[in-house]
Amino acid sequence: MTPPTMSVLPALHPSATQLPSGPATGLRCRECGATYPLAPEHVCVECFGPLEVDYDLDALRRVTRKSVAAGPPSMWRYVGLLPAGHDEATRVSLGAGMTRLHRADNLGRELGMRRLWVKDDSGNPTHSFKDRVVSVALSAAREFGFTTVACASTGNLANAVAAHAAQANLGSVVLIPADLEAGKVVSTAVYGGTLVAVDGTYDDVNRLCAEIAGELPWAFVNVNLRPYYAEGSKTLGYEVAEQLGWRLPAQVVVPMASGSLLTKVDKAFGEFGTLGLVEPSPYAVFGAQASGCAPISAAFRAGHDVVTPVRPATIAKSLAIGNPADGGYALDSVRRTGGAVADVPDEEIVAGIRLLASTEGIFAETAGGVTVATLRRLLDGGLLDPAVETVLLNTGDGLKTLDAVAPVVGPTATIAPSLEAFRKAGLA
Ligand SMILES: *Cc1c(COP(=O)(O)O)cnc(C)c1O
Ligand SMILES: [Zn+2]
Repeated sequence: MTPPTMSVLPALHPSATQLPSGPATGLRCRECGATYPLAPEHVCVECFGPLEVDYDLDALRRVTRKSVAAGPPSMWRYVGLLPAGHDEATRVSLGAGMTRLHRADNLGRELGMRRLWVKDDSGNPTHSFKDRVVSVALSAAREFGFTTVACASTGNLANAVAAHAAQANLGSVVLIPADLEAGKVVSTAVYGGTLVAVDGTYDDVNRLCAEIAGELPWAFVNVNLRPYYAEGSKTLGYEVAEQLGWRLPAQVVVPMASGSLLTKVDKAFGEFGTLGLVEPSPYAVFGAQASGCAPISAAFRAGHDVVTPVRPATIAKSLAIGNPADGGYALDSVRRTGGAVADVPDEEIVAGIRLLASTEGIFAETAGGVTVATLRRLLDGGLLDPAVETVLLNTGDGLKTLDAVAPVVGPTATIAPSLEAFRKAGLA
């Protein structure tokens, strides 16, 4: 049990470490391969490359289809493949994961595709896939002894951090760009933590957070805890494979902000093959961006390995990261698997939201509109195969971004409460 005095204990300095039990053995630099003990660190001191969690392969091999199926109906059924949350008493969870995999025959028909699925992560506790990363990051924060968690957010991360921190009795400090959608501001503030609106872009907010993280003993989920945070995204990939009956789809289409989710879906599919949880089979990973913030898509088109930062201007605010931390790695995943990246303008994002809603009864936020519209573009460009099984990730809920569609949808008619008025309106 968490001691009730937890919130009055002094926060540990970030350099203090406490080894979480589980399959993780340390951190490894993605660039130079230098290794470090498990700690709240994210940058290699040798080369400034990003750190990633390293695992003991034999420990991972203990995970079987049977052990997963015996686990809870949440993302924590894959705890044997995650770096934190092994002690249920300190695990931070609102029950994220095991969202539905929806067979999208109507949308598939509309797009001329043979077998299309929507993995609908809007069904998570705070209505986006960010609940997965936050559940792992806050579990790690607790294991490292932090009492305050923080983040820089484009909206959905703010919701997820504030909600999980509230339930876990952790202090929270969330920093957002001041121009976020009202729905995302309200649905963060309601949980009662500290919410700071910053006059600037997400990239400005993120830079500020990196500076604060150097000063204060706080667990920034997407700064010093980023290696742990990022691993939570793997569970989205694991679930797709398990829900398809323990096999991999041929194609998956993923919205990109920092590019982290895309790389982790790729990693999840790869791990399942390596561990023998699925028959290894080829799959292609596709990335989706809004044209108003498409640095990864631009690099893909130009054949570059390095992503040039942009200044975002799009209604898809949850994806508006102009300087994506994992952009280069996302390009690697896409190119290695034979996928592609494309981007769509704001009008097509709105059309994408409406198309998914009117064909499948799923109301996605702008990021979902980006993904649906990009799928259409990829098909039109001959970059994605309409004949093979494809999974589209819907990562967030349309109720948080009502402003995107409010100007173009509304009542079919507004009438007086009489049969005559109904008849006159020509509705029947
Ligand atoms: C954060 C987010 C993403 C993608 O995030 P990455 O930084 O690329 O991992 C996708 N969709 C929604 C709705 C998000 O909030
Ligand atoms: Zn390094």
